Amino acid sequence: MRVWQRLLGFSRSGRGRAAGPLRVWLWWERLTTWWWRLRPVRPGGLLLYSVQPWKGSPVPLADGTVVRPGDPVAELHLHNALFSQRATDSPWPHLTTLRQDLDFLRELLTRDRLVAAHGVTVFGDAARRLGFEVRPLPPSPWWRLVRFFLWGLRAVYHPTARGHKPPPWPVEVWWRPGYTLPGRVKRGGGSPAAARWRERAAAPILQAERRRGGMHRVLILGGGSGGAIAAKRLAQWSRPGEVEVVLVDRSPWHEYRPSYLWVMTGKREPEEVRRPLKLLEARYGTRVVQAAVTRIDPQARRVDTEAGSLDYDFLVVALGAVLRPDPRTEGYEGPWELEHALRLRDRLREFRGGHVVVGPVEWPYRCPPAPFEVAFMLRYLADQRHVSDRTRISVFHPWQQPMETFGPLMVEGFLAFLRQFRVEFQGGFQLDTHDRDRRVLRSTDGRVLEYDLAVLVPPHAPPEPVRNSPLAAAGGYMEVTLPSMASPRYPEVYGIGDVVAPTIGLGMAGVFAHFQADHVATQILDRVRGVYLGELYNMVGVCVMDTGYMGAAVWCDFTDKLYGRSPYPDCRLLGGMRLFRSVKVGFERLWFASLFGG
Ligand SMILES: Cc1cc2nc3c(=O)[nH]c(=O)nc-3n(C[C@H](O)[C@H](O)[C@H](O)COP(=O)(O)OP(=O)(O)OC[C@H]3O[C@@H](n4cnc5c(N)ncnc54)[C@H](O)[C@@H]3O)c2cc1C
Repeated sequence: MRVWQRLLGFSRSGRGRAAGPLRVWLWWERLTTWWWRLRPVRPGGLLLYSVQPWKGSPVPLADGTVVRPGDPVAELHLHNALFSQRATDSPWPHLTTLRQDLDFLRELLTRDRLVAAHGVTVFGDAARRLGFEVRPLPPSPWWRLVRFFLWGLRAVYHPTARGHKPPPWPVEVWWRPGYTLPGRVKRGGGSPAAARWRERAAAPILQAERRRGGMHRVLILGGGSGGAIAAKRLAQWSRPGEVEVVLVDRSPWHEYRPSYLWVMTGKREPEEVRRPLKLLEARYGTRVVQAAVTRIDPQARRVDTEAGSLDYDFLVVALGAVLRPDPRTEGYEGPWELEHALRLRDRLREFRGGHVVVGPVEWPYRCPPAPFEVAFMLRYLADQRHVSDRTRISVFHPWQQPMETFGPLMVEGFLAFLRQFRVEFQGGFQLDTHDRDRRVLRSTDGRVLEYDLAVLVPPHAPPEPVRNSPLAAAGGYMEVTLPSMASPRYPEVYGIGDVVAPTIGLGMAGVFAHFQADHVATQILDRVRGVYLGELYNMVGVCVMDTGYMGAAVWCDFTDKLYGRSPYPDCRLLGGMRLFRSVKVGFERLWFASLFGG
């Protein structure tokens, strides 16, 4: 050991730099990072991982799981450069970050169906504190060598000369999503302070807390297109200490809904069209709470969730629209929610022609041109499978003309598309009954559509907590004044996205939610600071369509329509060429990259 210590002593090193023999450690570390393709479990996290098949003998874990040879395992490593940025090599100051890493690791293991996470470390005590199962390693020559390597790494990254001291004997650590984090306090017994601590830990996590440090709390309800952009903008445009942003969503995921259409056609897997909302914590400092909102009380400035209550200074309601259960669409298939898009994908696998009908039960619904886009994509699919000659495709709609609320230019453009893709249109079709067994749709005026495959848009409705609150307008969606997007009665409450679209006369589209989020974040910061020059409300929307054969976009400026100066938005059809499909792909990539870093 002394020989090794002397060898390390020849080198000058620390804080990630090394001269002399210790440079080999840096090269070795770089090589292994590249070779194993190590990546962080989340942006800014301390844990790196690579997926490897387990090569050892079977390992029985504490929860009864047995890791067998060949099982996929996340091999964990520390991000040494980040780790050494603090003036210590102790793991303790990093525990909070590591705990957050474990939240992501949990999702990662579940998502990628990995059996467990495994690592070798000299920080056995800290690993135990984090909930890892810690196992001793035998004093064999191999582990002696590993210890020597870890010793060298410590010398390279340690901020002081103490790093040259020999580290403890390494241990093996295992972790599974079900493992619970042990508290400092043992269950039962202990001092009164310990009992108080236990009580606090067991209480609902939110408990109508007060904000800290004089910051204004902005509470965002919903982490979809509007909510996620609002969180990002508030973080980007605020100064430290101005606002505390808390985002509540019942789902752990942010989903990019336009890509459901590619899930339907098998071009995308669910993981490719969503990201964990928790990523917003590391990237923007947003506190993300996964819980369903149950009640909004604007008088008390309080929101109740399934996990407790939260108060606020400013509230941004971005709960979107929800799908209303309806006997006409029971067990339906259609890409308006991810799980339903997956169901449709399964049906389409077997699709070999027949009569396909596509249409909404009611208007409004998410993305007005989407049923047409679905029909055009299905024509492409039928052509690809060489079953177009036995495939009839019809779109039915409550509108008399396709896209009629978007003005005559759009009607003309969509009629041309319908002709081009040989899709029939049944206008003014108000769905009355749906006989699933006989595969028949019947309209209120007695028309009958027999089908082999029906792709239905279920009725959309306002979310319950909005409908039941004083924020709701007559139809249950939220009432706001233009252009502020604030509630007329509660000026510290803003509404954005699909939850306000029907009340102000907009279609439900993510692009509106996006621009409204920009505008609302600007106003909130304006009110916090007194003066702030930010974003005006951009009332423009774009829906990009991938028809398979080509890409096209519906671009509309709603300014005159929203102010009552015109019955229609000012719309254009853009694209209409194959290259334009890449616009849609590019925007999807940009969306995830700009919000989540990838
Ligand atoms: C197939 C399809 C294609 C589309 N294509 C386009 C397009 O090309 N361009 C475009 O601009 N738009 C498109 N859209 C529409 C767009 O996705 C939506 O308009 C947009 O997502 C609305 O954003 P939002 O923030 O208002 O609501 P959402 O994105 O729906 O987010 C609402 C969030 O609130 C959460 N939530 C709801 N109720 C509760 C509750 N009680 N408690 C806690 N959380 C709750 C939900 O989990 C969700 O995360 C498309 C939609 C579909 C379905």
